[in-house]
Amino acid sequence: IVAAYVEATPGSAALHEAASTVLPSGIVHDSRHTDPYPIYSKRALGARKWDVDGREMVDFYGGHGALILGHCHPGVTAAAVEQLALGTHFGTCHALEIAWAQLIQQMVPCAERVRFTSSGTEATHMAVRLARAFTGRPKIMRFQRHFHGWHDHMAFGVDGHFDGSPTPGVLPEVAAGIVLLPPGDLGAVERAFAQDDGIAGVILEPTGASTGMVPVSVDFLRGLRDITTRYGAVLIFDEVVTGFRVAPGGAQQALGVTPDLCTLAKIVAGGLPGGAVAGRKDIIDWLDFDIAADRKREKIKHQGTYNANPVSASAGIAALTLIRDTDVCARANEAAATMRDAFNRVLAEEDVPWAVYGDHSVLHFFTNPQGIDLDPVRWDANAQPVSVFTGDPRKALMSKLYLALVVAGIDPKGARGAIVSAVHGPEEIAWATESWRRALRMLKAE
Ligand code: PMP
Repeated sequence: IVAAYVEATPGSAALHEAASTVLPSGIVHDSRHTDPYPIYSKRALGARKWDVDGREMVDFYGGHGALILGHCHPGVTAAAVEQLALGTHFGTCHALEIAWAQLIQQMVPCAERVRFTSSGTEATHMAVRLARAFTGRPKIMRFQRHFHGWHDHMAFGVDGHFDGSPTPGVLPEVAAGIVLLPPGDLGAVERAFAQDDGIAGVILEPTGASTGMVPVSVDFLRGLRDITTRYGAVLIFDEVVTGFRVAPGGAQQALGVTPDLCTLAKIVAGGLPGGAVAGRKDIIDWLDFDIAADRKREKIKHQGTYNANPVSASAGIAALTLIRDTDVCARANEAAATMRDAFNRVLAEEDVPWAVYGDHSVLHFFTNPQGIDLDPVRWDANAQPVSVFTGDPRKALMSKLYLALVVAGIDPKGARGAIVSAVHGPEEIAWATESWRRALRMLKAE
């Protein structure tokens, strides 16, 4: 498989060699770390992309989930291009930021007020700061494997560090301010609140860790809603991926549980850089100058050169309007359901004891031969789908699965699954299904 990958991708090999002399590991995002080297892309359109060797692939990573409308959607591209010619940064307020925020307010149930950031990481950073300021309490509750970006409060608890110990460069006292629990266990949440009156808020991915790779139940969300309300803590849904994807109003709309705050990025800016924190007015008011003056309190500080950048705002407005007014989310959800069925049929036909599962427009590959147990409370850390970035014994297998899928013509979400867009039609699904079969056969032949 490695030989087939190397043979198919000489251009990427050459670029990676050059990259390794200037970029650590030759990459700019940890998730692109690939043995022997990652793919370099040149162009993308709709559900397809082409690498520097001219190979056509169906894209199932979709800008890390940002591209539910596919690459270069004409309406989104036109909006961004139009704004590029009018100015990329005014250093002043502009009308687009109002229209953009109004769309979010209309679409997302909890969004009484909105503050834009430049990324999802910044949005979760602001959300935890808002929770601490609002409650006057120091700690944040998080769940193992739930990903919220890379700032100091979030840079552990995933890929090992399930004991809450900090990763290099993170202050131990910051890590000590996080209450890290296994997901799905309401009893543990209740006990933590009963024992510790310093918990300001709870943040989680509302469909489960890694966009539902380790699902949480709606009852868990309802339980968190109840417990946080009783203890006066802030419930934060990290909807950086699920926002405008699971449904036009995000997972909170689809699942019927409204948090106090949510974090948004990716789709919110139409595939350009951007993010936001949205939620209850009385919490987000901690950013408001006049309210701070009235209440004789110091406001939360927040700057950011690219907050609500006009080009991102213009693309975001175009994307959100389409998502609000058409069946974008439903189409992506349906395409993913069709693909999950097709991939599972292939697993049965090829006699491979894995499973493909997931909700809405995401697929997860479950490659644990010991069988599947989707109850998140009983979900043993060792039984979970393995990350290709850890030292897990199955790392080599997962790494080969990824390479085989790329050779077979699709670019998945690493070796762990796939993210589907509204422009993945029957042709792309058929292509992907055959690629899946080819990749499995390559693995069996190794
Ligand atoms: N939260 C979640 C749930 C995410 O999936 C991500 C990014 N994958 C982030 C936060 C961080 O967003 P960003 O990469 O824009 O900083």
